[in-house]
Amino acid sequence: MTARKKVVKLRKNHPEWTLLQIGKETGISFPRVFQILATEKPPLVTKSVRPYRPPQKCKYCGSETKPLRFFCSNGVCRENYYFLIIPCFYCYKPIRKRRSVYRVLLSLNQTRFYHDWTCVLLDKQTRSRKNRPSKKKTTFPVLFLRPVQERSKGEV
Ligand SMILES: [Zn+2]
Ligand SMILES: [Zn+2]
Repeated sequence: MTARKKVVKLRKNHPEWTLLQIGKETGISFPRVFQILATEKPPLVTKSVRPYRPPQKCKYCGSETKPLRFFCSNGVCRENYYFLIIPCFYCYKPIRKRRSVYRVLLSLNQTRFYHDWTCVLLDKQTRSRKNRPSKKKTTFPVLFLRPVQERSKGEV
């Protein structure tokens, strides 16, 4: 049996073997194994010898991403995953907060968030009064903590 036939046979019988394994089994060098398989018709190796990496799923929206990427390439999913937009307790202006920080604060039973100290003071002064800003002023989507699995695609 010629070297070519040996290599081709092993490749077909053991598709999961690496070219190095085939080389060891047949005593043929790696570059020669590669050359043989690449010149078969159809070729039995692709030009890329990098190991196959399955596509990943975006941690935020769950759609398929490139190998070794954890988020969609638009940058929006990454942002949405690590940051939450929550309303200021007093004026309802959006506050950008790290999800992990928010989680810790919630676990400490802190549910009031202010976008700066003036809102903290104003809130204290006007807590019992009726001149607080109206809740209708919220014009951005309020994001809630939910595990990714439960979130359907496209939902904020
Ligand atoms: Zn995504
Ligand atoms: Zn505020």
